[in-house]
Amino acid sequence: MHNVYKSREVNLHTHSFYCGHGSGQLEDYVAEAKKGSITLLGFSEHAPLPNNLHSRSRMDYSELETYLGECRSLQEAEDSIEILAGFECDNLQEWNEYYRDLKDSRKVDYLCGGVHFVDDTYVPYLNPERRFLYDYVDDYVDMLRSGIYDYAVHPDLYCAFYRDWDKEALQVAKAIIESAQEHQIPLEINGNGLRKGKVKTPQGMRYPYPRREFWELVSAYDVKVIANSDSHHPYELYQQREEVYAFAKECNIELGDITLNGRSIKIG
Ligand SMILES: [Zn+2]
Ligand SMILES: [Zn+2]
Repeated sequence: MHNVYKSREVNLHTHSFYCGHGSGQLEDYVAEAKKGSITLLGFSEHAPLPNNLHSRSRMDYSELETYLGECRSLQEAEDSIEILAGFECDNLQEWNEYYRDLKDSRKVDYLCGGVHFVDDTYVPYLNPERRFLYDYVDDYVDMLRSGIYDYAVHPDLYCAFYRDWDKEALQVAKAIIESAQEHQIPLEINGNGLRKGKVKTPQGMRYPYPRREFWELVSAYDVKVIANSDSHHPYELYQQREEVYAFAKECNIELGDITLNGRSIKIG
């Protein structure tokens, strides 16, 4: 276990069969990671909730201990690669205490937070209406200020349904980035959006997310940025990986350090 890594050695956003919309056992991801440069692999399965909310796309709550146990066994079995146990959480105020307990009890090595649903609809599937944009940003900023999360995932997911980069889209970006700066929460450039290919927008062909205009704006702020694959299948760990780094570079972004549940990791 060490605390200095190069960005290409780190992936902290990894799913598996556990969430129901991914595939592969945890050990398949470890085997895949070992084929390339990754030596710090963080599992961040979608966090289950005790009431099994969103159970269609989240692991069953009854599997929580099995999942964490499996992460720990892999951690113990591996020498050449460090495995972390984490969760990607939906911002739900009524469950903040549950999330905090997971961290405080050290059951998890880290938690990342995001907003996947507005009005019970998966964000990329929303109609491009401004009211959804406002719901999204309120929820996202609320998540950033909760103090629970070690980093925040795909902040620009709203660009997948609201494709115009107009005054409103810019205002939303500013609100998120300024809040991330204020609370010093790193933001994530998410490789999953790159896998979907570019789409038509009023500003030309763009990835649905990560959205170029959003990240160019981030580069002007004092906000740490990390890049992850958000793999849902083992082969995705290294897919489009170089494109993610190239994208960051184009947006003038240098990837930064991160603190996971109190442990600082230098990413150079
Ligand atoms: Zn997922
Ligand atoms: Zn996500």
